[in-house]
Amino acid sequence: MTGCEYYERCRRFIKAKLNLLGTVFSEENKYDECFCKDCHERSGRPNAYRTGNPEQNAVHQIGWARFELDVHDHKIVYMKIHQKWHVAFHGTEADTVKPILDANMLLLPGDIVLGGDKLEQRKEHTEEHDEKFDPKNIFVSPSIKYVEQKSYAKSVSWIDEHTSTEYDAKVAFEVWIRPGSYEIHGQTLEAGSERIDEYFRNDSLEWFTKERPATVLYGLLIKLDSKQKHWSRFLPKFHLFWFT
Ligand SMILES: [Zn+2]
Repeated sequence: MTGCEYYERCRRFIKAKLNLLGTVFSEENKYDECFCKDCHERSGRPNAYRTGNPEQNAVHQIGWARFELDVHDHKIVYMKIHQKWHVAFHGTEADTVKPILDANMLLLPGDIVLGGDKLEQRKEHTEEHDEKFDPKNIFVSPSIKYVEQKSYAKSVSWIDEHTSTEYDAKVAFEVWIRPGSYEIHGQTLEAGSERIDEYFRNDSLEWFTKERPATVLYGLLIKLDSKQKHWSRFLPKFHLFWFT
């Protein structure tokens, strides 16, 4: 629907790397949207907006492409979640996307995922906080810039066969989160007084909840940054040509 090459590339990444069934995505895909710089500028929408009750800042995920998920959650309608809840992001690894979508919710460390495996706590997540920190929480951030920088949205290398270009790919989820369900904590990037995101104070960048049903998955987000052109696959041919 977007006609943007960046968006199509992100779609190819999902197909090639995430091992998902098409049914996890909304058939209507009304909210599939490309937020690459060009598309965002062309849309004329603001970088940030107010949402939820009580109102809270929310930002658009500039630089990312959003694929709307097929959300089977009856509470969205009767609780008017899309109007009343806050918007946040959860960065994750490519391998964790499928277990999260199989469960249709963000999971707590230690949860048993579909198939019987245990979701391990990330070591670096515990190391970044003091000893009072309870790692058994779901972590989200209202700031996509923060999620991008955090180690949770770890990038994975991917070569797009279409363009023979190598990319660093990041994945994240856009979620609604129930106001009042989460504790607000400060950043742990050692940013000091340097502001990470102009729409949120540094001391409000990490939101934690233990309430699993308090988050609803809404969109799968992909961001691709190109590495240098992937020439190596072509070089041997040239060598043969020149030296034989
Ligand atoms: Zn775009």
